[in-house]
Amino acid sequence: MQIKSVKVGELKTNCYIISDEATNEGLVIDPGFDPEKVISEIGNLSIKAIVLTHGHYDHVTSAFELKEKVNAPVMINKDDEAMMSYSTQKRADRLLNDKDKLDIGNLSFVIIHTPGHSQGSFCLYNEKEKALFSGDTLFAGDYGRTDLPGSSPPDMENSLKKLLRLPPETEVYPGHGRTTTIEAEKNLLE
Ligand SMILES: [Zn+2]
Repeated sequence: MQIKSVKVGELKTNCYIISDEATNEGLVIDPGFDPEKVISEIGNLSIKAIVLTHGHYDHVTSAFELKEKVNAPVMINKDDEAMMSYSTQKRADRLLNDKDKLDIGNLSFVIIHTPGHSQGSFCLYNEKEKALFSGDTLFAGDYGRTDLPGSSPPDMENSLKKLLRLPPETEVYPGHGRTTTIEAEKNLLE
């Protein structure tokens, strides 16, 4: 599994381009802004999915501009689709639910619904590679804001507890800031 990250927009959202070297197939997570930067990092990969971890504008705004270029379906959780549509004027191509599987080339991801920052926030987990793409739920040393419309502090606490049960060696790729591990964040709620 190859992972490239591109910081996009004023809020420096981490957009991830993840690919399977064997098949040259990949997915893009959270192309909030700067589609030309994202396209140039995609290079000759065949993009099979554009996945939005939640509906905030800094994660979704360029999703459909990218779709025009790479011809891949845009996916989000149903609880954040309306928020996405507010920024993009578009509907999603596929709605992702908790425990859904997303297979791209030889890579397999499972959706972990993690409401709290927003109702429809989710993470993508690759069990084989021990990698978690955590959106704005879990950051290095911190977690996402819970004072926004659609936020819920108790939901965030439950979601973080769920994530902190993943294997400690899991590498965490957040929606903002640097990468971390589950091990490094194990005392986040204490
Ligand atoms: Zn957010």
